[in-house]
Amino acid sequence: MSWQGIKGHDETVAKLRTAWQQGRLGSAYLLTGPSGIGKRHLAHALAQTLLCDRPSPGFAPCGQCESCRLFVTGSHPDFLRVACEEDQRVLPLELLIGERQHRAREGLCFWISLAPVHANRKIAILEDADLLAEEGANALLKTLEEPPIGSVLFLISHNLQRQLPTIRSRCQILFCPPLDVPTLARLIQDQGLASTPEEAERLAQWSAGSLEVARELADPAWAEFLGELERLLARQPVDGVAIGREVAAFVDQAGESVPAKRSRLRQVVRLVSESLRQQLRQAVMHSDAEALQWELMRQIDHCLLVMQQIDANAHLPTLIDAWTEALAGTRLAAVW
Ligand SMILES: [Zn+2]
Repeated sequence: MSWQGIKGHDETVAKLRTAWQQGRLGSAYLLTGPSGIGKRHLAHALAQTLLCDRPSPGFAPCGQCESCRLFVTGSHPDFLRVACEEDQRVLPLELLIGERQHRAREGLCFWISLAPVHANRKIAILEDADLLAEEGANALLKTLEEPPIGSVLFLISHNLQRQLPTIRSRCQILFCPPLDVPTLARLIQDQGLASTPEEAERLAQWSAGSLEVARELADPAWAEFLGELERLLARQPVDGVAIGREVAAFVDQAGESVPAKRSRLRQVVRLVSESLRQQLRQAVMHSDAEALQWELMRQIDHCLLVMQQIDANAHLPTLIDAWTEALAGTRLAAVW
């Protein structure tokens, strides 16, 4: 039975539960793990529990008290959620320290320094901690170094590498692992993203432990593309021209926006890489020819290289050509 029905994070909860039971709760936690695994949901449930007037000794909110009622209706005076707008690439400084004319009298840092109104502590969730620029991180330092008594700040990060050392070193880090395939398959079915258990299992295997990825891949366009990709990758040596053609057309269908195309290509490369890894595992298990194992490793390396190039904003059609030719071994790595 998962804690509060949140699947896959029992170990993370257990750490918080122990700290809470022993009265050693930290003041800042960095929840980190891939996107789409339920970190935000988890942070909200933790916040409700920590604010509850009558939490169970086993660490669960009662769901009945005034605090729980305020929390569920989104009007708890001691709870604050801070997040970027969808198209923002940097967390606005104003959200942390207020508008210029109200500096230090508004924003998360000011809010959390005030005395609690209903509960005995204030709790804030900073959802887009990956988008903290240096200025924002600096603004948070005082709150992290001298936290108001009892307050708890949850920072949510999809990529620990993106956290500045100043933030990382002042938070307790809670790693949230990707969801395992059976758990994810169950969630996929619960959310109606697949019509049969077999389909859910297959989608879960492609989704890197993330419900967000599963949602994206559940699109019929992806299903068709993945079927074709599986067919093309099942044959070694791979047909680079055919894969290149499929990938280029599919990436183009992502729309006019280059970031959307880039994001789709990133997903495609990850899937190809995952498929090759599965083939490599099989080849090793069955002691297949060493040459095949080396070939698969070489292809996986090229997937990693192209991933770096995508992040470095390379020209996408050129990149797709170079990658798929390299996969087929028709051109050596000089292009990278
Ligand atoms: Zn309660």
